[in-house]
Amino acid sequence: MTELPDTIRELAAELVGILGERGVSTELRAREKASADGSYLSPIITEQLPLGLADIVAFPTTAQQIAETVAAAVRHGVGITPRGKGTGNYGQAIPLENGLVLDLSKARGVVDVGDGHLTALAGTPIVTIEQAAHEAGQQILMYPSTAQSSIGGFLSGGSGGTGSIAHGSNHQGFVLALDVVHAVPDATLVHVEGDDAQPYVHTYGTAGIIAQATIALEPLQEWRGLFASFDDFGTAISVLREIGRLEPTPRLVSADLPVLANALPADPGIPKDRSSLRAIIDVAAVAAASELIEQAGGRVEDVRDGAQTAMKLSMISYNHPIEWLQKSDPGKYFHIEVAGDALVDRIDEVHAVYPGGMLHIEAQKDRPIGMLAGIYSSAQEVYEGFAKLAAIGVGVHNPHVWFVDHEVERTLALSESTDPAGLLNPGKLQGKRPAAVSA
Ligand SMILES: Cc1cc2nc3c(=O)[nH]c(=O)nc-3n(C[C@H](O)[C@H](O)[C@H](O)COP(=O)(O)OP(=O)(O)OC[C@H]3O[C@@H](n4cnc5c(N)ncnc54)[C@H](O)[C@@H]3O)c2cc1C
Repeated sequence: MTELPDTIRELAAELVGILGERGVSTELRAREKASADGSYLSPIITEQLPLGLADIVAFPTTAQQIAETVAAAVRHGVGITPRGKGTGNYGQAIPLENGLVLDLSKARGVVDVGDGHLTALAGTPIVTIEQAAHEAGQQILMYPSTAQSSIGGFLSGGSGGTGSIAHGSNHQGFVLALDVVHAVPDATLVHVEGDDAQPYVHTYGTAGIIAQATIALEPLQEWRGLFASFDDFGTAISVLREIGRLEPTPRLVSADLPVLANALPADPGIPKDRSSLRAIIDVAAVAAASELIEQAGGRVEDVRDGAQTAMKLSMISYNHPIEWLQKSDPGKYFHIEVAGDALVDRIDEVHAVYPGGMLHIEAQKDRPIGMLAGIYSSAQEVYEGFAKLAAIGVGVHNPHVWFVDHEVERTLALSESTDPAGLLNPGKLQGKRPAAVSA
């Protein structure tokens, strides 16, 4: 621990007392690992890297240790960037102002499973939670395609995924209660329930660190993984919208152009050079979905059962086809997040907005959403496309900035009391009081 600023050396010594030698690191390799996330998906953010480097990394393993670690950092005036699995793709987990990275990936474990609810430590992988729910004859309402990511990270940085057709986003009734830690010198676990818990969701830890979460479960359904293919993408996405409206509501319906489908891991259910449609549907909806596919001239390639098939389909949904595309040709592509019926009804115009435009699409109850990829030339060209998309009725979310963009005013108001010195994930909440003391 040489050449460290005094503040960090003193904090490190205190944290070793709380977490033990193995619970704290100031090694460069650990600090670099803790300072990177999934923002490599954005060439615009990649051009700006490195955006920050942790001075110190802490690995609490219990909720109590999380509180004690936060309290110690606050007493030393050191900024705290929480981190789950580090898959967030807008740089949300990068410590923009250095300081402490609070790595919660070792604070894991399902604490309780009851009828309609499950409680887990923040670092618990979502796959572990889904499995625990299954063992109790239940299922999690939703999970991201990064199913190995942490529940705390998904609640703080993510928004939805498998299950969102029926249940929307993770700030819409998914969270029943949280044990959070505020950035105050005598921090303890604060239990918040119902409406009081929602302001901590999707705000990147800027109003409080989630130490433990209680989420809603529902009765387990018998799911099938359906693989279909089409000659043309236009037909595939029309059918996707109809399958998304079937009852019982599908858990996931995704579709890709042949070029994106070709980039996915090889699977006989995803034939090369054809538009691919993949769905997780209730066994009771398989016949209706198959009929919609075949009536439109598509082919049902396979219908598979088993939780592993559902998980596999989830893990090639949402941002993943874009990630596979980028892996196949590094540095070439960018993507933005898009929404609206125009994605189906005006697909040729949508594709024409960017050179090499390619849509990956997901069914939702009201309007489809998707990731629109294109060949990257400059940030300016990416941003110029936003107005063109708006003109054809496509809503855009910019995945190339790391600011909290959900309930900003509410989060600012809450953080006045929960983070009075501005130490929580510094730089992510615009308008927040800057950190009082910098390490
Ligand atoms: C290929 C790819 C696919 C993706 N697919 C989806 C998807 O389908 N749906 C979706 O919603 N997202 C998706 N994402 C984004 C991201 O993976 C998810 O949001 C994921 O659930 C984040 O979890 P994590 O554990 O990796 O969190 P991290 O990346 O570690 O953290 C995310 C944010 O939450 C904060 N944070 C982490 N833990 C806590 C905590 N305990 N308390 C307070 N703040 C905390 C971090 O500071 C950061 O701001 C995808 C990303 C990639 C790269």
